[in-house]
Amino acid sequence: MMLPTRDAPPEAATGAADPSPTEKPRDPLVIRDITFLGGMAAVGGWRPDHELPEVAFAGRSNVGKSSLLNALVRRKAIARVSRTPGRTREINFFGVNGRFVLVDLPGYGYARVSKERKAEWRPLMDAYLRHTRQLRGVVQLLDVRRDPSDDDLQMLDYLAELEVPMLIAVTKVDKLSRAGAQARIAEITRTLMLDSEQVIPFSAHTGQGRDELAEAVVQLVEEPAWGAAPEQDAATGPESPEG
Ligand code: GDP
Repeated sequence: MMLPTRDAPPEAATGAADPSPTEKPRDPLVIRDITFLGGMAAVGGWRPDHELPEVAFAGRSNVGKSSLLNALVRRKAIARVSRTPGRTREINFFGVNGRFVLVDLPGYGYARVSKERKAEWRPLMDAYLRHTRQLRGVVQLLDVRRDPSDDDLQMLDYLAELEVPMLIAVTKVDKLSRAGAQARIAEITRTLMLDSEQVIPFSAHTGQGRDELAEAVVQLVEEPAWGAAPEQDAATGPESPEG
């Protein structure tokens, strides 16, 4: 996977290896069509019926998930949908080029909601992650300036337990100096015992990391399904991240 190394120069962050000054790097994901397919609101509820590969995006509220998804598809479509009342706690599905589906998982851990409401996302996320055979990978978002929350850590443990391919997008890297962002990314990679190849520094504001993420998503989509997800009932399966 062509991901920037921590000490790569900023030019390398645009993707293609050594492009000539006049040649724009090839866009790894040209968006011809993006279609909102609908939202899954409850365990066992409606979800789009298709065989296309899915790649899901997870993160706490305010981590920059809508901004990242919009930057990825170069549209405002996702922000528009996710701001619709009632949609924020749903799993929202977006078809891309009729070829794969981006899945916007509900943002978790919003400080201002009650503890009960806070835990609402878990059964739905659990049902989705355990029962989606066409799931090809999960992009977990972490804010460069924040230490991962308990919810983030539970989510990461949960994804590790499922053994689903996982990428980490470290968001809002423009908020720190280049050296500061590199140091934080190194720290996140080390403390979470990640492979640096899995970690993509990202900024929706500058566009940094957009092409690496697009390329990584396309790779996930093109790879065969990571494993036959065992048909387990969410209630009787291995422990939910709620603990
Ligand atoms: P979501 O709740 O995870 O969907 O987060 P949003 O995409 O709505 O972003 C939350 C806040 O962070 C908004 O105020 C955004 O403008 C800001 N934000 C998102 N991405 C970036 C980024 O790359 N850089 C900076 N500086 N701010 C960002």
